[in-house]
Amino acid sequence: MTGETPRETVWILGDQLRRDRGALAERSPGECRVLMVISDHKLASKRWHRQRLHLVVSAIEHFAAELRDEGFEVDLRHAPSLPAGLRDHCDEFDVDRVIAMEPMSFDGLAMLQRAGVETIANDQFLCHYRDFADWAADRASLKMEDFYRWQRRRLDIMIEPDGSPVNGQWNFDHDNREPPPKDGRSWPTISTFASDEIDESVAARIEELDVWGAPADGRWPVTRTQALQRLDEFIENGLDPFGAHEDAMITDEWKLAHSVLASSMNLGLLHPGEIAEAAEVAFDRGDARINSVEGFIRQVIGWREYVWGVYWLWMPDYRSQNQLNANRPVPPAFTGAASTHMRCVSTAISHVEQHGYAHHIERLMVLGNLALTAGVDPQAMTEWMWASFVDGAEWVMLPNVIGMALHADGGQMATKPYASGGAYINKMSDSCKQCRYNPRHRTGDTACPFTTLYWDFLARNEQALTGNHRMARQLAGMRRLSDLEDVRERAVEVLAALDQGVL
Ligand code: SF4
Repeated sequence: MTGETPRETVWILGDQLRRDRGALAERSPGECRVLMVISDHKLASKRWHRQRLHLVVSAIEHFAAELRDEGFEVDLRHAPSLPAGLRDHCDEFDVDRVIAMEPMSFDGLAMLQRAGVETIANDQFLCHYRDFADWAADRASLKMEDFYRWQRRRLDIMIEPDGSPVNGQWNFDHDNREPPPKDGRSWPTISTFASDEIDESVAARIEELDVWGAPADGRWPVTRTQALQRLDEFIENGLDPFGAHEDAMITDEWKLAHSVLASSMNLGLLHPGEIAEAAEVAFDRGDARINSVEGFIRQVIGWREYVWGVYWLWMPDYRSQNQLNANRPVPPAFTGAASTHMRCVSTAISHVEQHGYAHHIERLMVLGNLALTAGVDPQAMTEWMWASFVDGAEWVMLPNVIGMALHADGGQMATKPYASGGAYINKMSDSCKQCRYNPRHRTGDTACPFTTLYWDFLARNEQALTGNHRMARQLAGMRRLSDLEDVRERAVEVLAALDQGVL
């Protein structure tokens, strides 16, 4: 101990990097110490993508440097674990009280409670999870669309004075499902940020760990200033073209007009409220079309906050859900251990490998769809996605993988499995025409693995899906197949090849 007067410690967790929010919001230098811990256990807990690990560690170290520049005494320490870091801090300094913002994870909250850390409400979302639980309490089903409209109204985002949605419709999804355009248009470019000493030091240090993927290239904002620049660029160049082709997949385009702001929001560098407001202002100025603005705001204040709410509502039981008894390992084609002839998969994986990112349809309808129909273990898939995407976190990946992509919760979140054959990917991407497989074939060597596995998935899980009226048409179609036996024989070959990394 230093012998100084005991002081309060504000503990800033690694995904709460915002000066004007949480426990630091009202405090000035001299009033408290700041503790930040980089945990060896966390660094070694997964095979992280290089860009994901670099982003988090670099953003933490940049935030510590900014606070020091402002005059705060910052104890940024490396420790075997987060609790060990807290213990070491309290051993070294005279600490009369430790306070933190509620963490983003269930286990993180339990850890703080065990350690006797006082918490204040997490303010990194527009809807606190306790408010979400109140909204959910008297509902028979938790429809995202209902939550989204409730958010729009109570937050007064794109709402007319009489309470109706701007432009008369809540939902412009039907305008936002266009396939890739054939006009060869260019898509908005984004700035990259120059690497500084912190970035270079972090890049060198993470090479000592078991990491994969391309190295950091300044693509992901590590400070609030950089994140605000990314937001400005998106509002100016990306928002208007975002909507119509938000579900399209193009081989040579890793992001199309997607905002790529999630990593900044998930680290606390940007708040969803300021992002939604910037989009609404752009709409009011006439700079972006309604379908783009509504579709974007739906993602930010609807989907993202809904996922956060259900995570807290259903944890901790939710993370062990596996109602379809899926137990296949994550395919080697996903982890970099093997390549694949499936053009749509190799394209999506190359985007992940190069950037730690794939957009929502590549995640759901290519990677998630293959994992669902092949029967990949939901916990293993969650871990892989959490480690591989720059915007990964338990709260975001669990509902998206367990609930949305793999239907492992039996329909608690999504009312039917997002399973599809090659036809959907053929419509929404440019991959199939360059692929050795044919999306219309379900048997034989040229059969599209998605098409074969789609029918096999329905047959394999017929009993579990029979009670779901939204699956009745698909199941009836499966039962009518005259070559179902051949399809199932081909599925055995496909699954073996998938496991061996030769598909
Ligand atoms: Fe993907 Fe099948 Fe199309 Fe090949 S044919 S790109 S595997 S959907």
